[in-house]
Amino acid sequence: MQNVVVIVSDHLSTRAVGAYGESDWADTPNIDLLAERGAVFENMYTSYPLCGPSRAAFWTGRFPHDTGVLCNGLKVQGPDILPNGLVPEDMPTIGESFKNAGYHTIHFGKCHDSGGLRGFEIVADGTRESEDVPVGYPENNDTWKDNWAMDRFAEWAEGGFPDSFCAVVDLQNPHNICGWIGEHSSLDGPVSHAISPKNLPELPKNNRVTDWASLPLPIRYICCSHNRAGQTSHYTDEDWRYYIDAFRHYAKMADEHVGTILRLLAEGGVLDDTLVILMADHGDAMGSHQMATKQVSFYEETARVPFIVAGPGVPTGGQRVATLTSLLDLFPGLCEYAGIEVPDGLSGVSFAPLLKNEEVQREFVAAEWYSEWGYTISPGRMIRSACFKYTCYLEGSGGADDPTGGEELYDLETDRGEMVNLAADPAYRAVLLEHRDMLRRHIREQEDPFYRQKVVVDKRWRSHALGYQHHSGPTAPMAAHS
Ligand code: ZN
Repeated sequence: MQNVVVIVSDHLSTRAVGAYGESDWADTPNIDLLAERGAVFENMYTSYPLCGPSRAAFWTGRFPHDTGVLCNGLKVQGPDILPNGLVPEDMPTIGESFKNAGYHTIHFGKCHDSGGLRGFEIVADGTRESEDVPVGYPENNDTWKDNWAMDRFAEWAEGGFPDSFCAVVDLQNPHNICGWIGEHSSLDGPVSHAISPKNLPELPKNNRVTDWASLPLPIRYICCSHNRAGQTSHYTDEDWRYYIDAFRHYAKMADEHVGTILRLLAEGGVLDDTLVILMADHGDAMGSHQMATKQVSFYEETARVPFIVAGPGVPTGGQRVATLTSLLDLFPGLCEYAGIEVPDGLSGVSFAPLLKNEEVQREFVAAEWYSEWGYTISPGRMIRSACFKYTCYLEGSGGADDPTGGEELYDLETDRGEMVNLAADPAYRAVLLEHRDMLRRHIREQEDPFYRQKVVVDKRWRSHALGYQHHSGPTAPMAAHS
């Protein structure tokens, strides 16, 4: 039996990973080495750009509406607000499948799985502060939990690897970027930075939004529904460059842990017998579209994630896999690779044939949005087809009957930065209708209750002049806590 190690990074964007070649500032030598030993998936999408729902979904291979884990948690209740569930006890999980197949299954680090990690022995988490913290890059629990998890992984590895194991190392970083925003941002004062402005990364070309009115309401007013978006709503170009610099720093911390994991596997004599996967639960906006972190949008920076696979039978040399894939493919892919029976009812498609250069036909992949904490509820869906990205939000549209006004359509061949929303462009009417049909078919086939979900958004979160630069006052979660 082959061993499996899945390394999950929370919040990692492809732009911050050197192997993806999307920036000249990425600093991830260890992940790049892993890519050199294996294959790089170029079009891997999360099924929900938020930690909790994404994790419950990929550990079970089911869409969030199926697991019932619809948000990170509900801090408000109401008649139109759906309860946030736990993964049903009879829903198969990766951990359970591998455990039943005789693997030693063990998990280190962040869980936030709502039951999706059933079947893994969960090593209790804790924190260890770093010894040297560079000025300008404050650390919080995210980083300290990673230090602790890596200490536990090292103890386990140095104790001798068991025969046939499936281990998960769940890293928080670069999630520490969220705390960085909180420490460096202020709605009513200048943004302060403790480091020299030398060698700051360049702004992404899609940093500035030019046509606010073309965007669906939840995107136009993300500054009012997401506290980090509110805190960054007045960022200057230079502030965004500091943000990206800090992101590079926290991503490098995750990268160093990847290096340690690979070294310990090699020293234990098991690296060549182990399939290693590096992935993220979702990405980060990275200053694109004047956005930080993630919430509600399905732009490439947040919905598309790094996915790198290396190990026995995997082509080496950083070979690119361009096929459309979904993190829901992890479960069937791991099972097929390891020769374990694939449970019935999974929503993903095995990625294992792609590792043998066999073709997998995929017309589109889909993703979902409901809410972060329940303060604003703006159900949305994404369809990523071969050349286009289509999104549909219920807010501000007529739903299933006429989604006009809640849609985005981007031509990813000519507009990789998703700057021009073509949804209302008569020249793209046929493409739009084709993608509406794909979404309807997806909803029917997956028994997705999307069109029946309710929008719950107070008008005051949709009230200021267009543009995040006009945001003032608290965001919905901040107001609820004040
Ligand atoms: Zn706002």
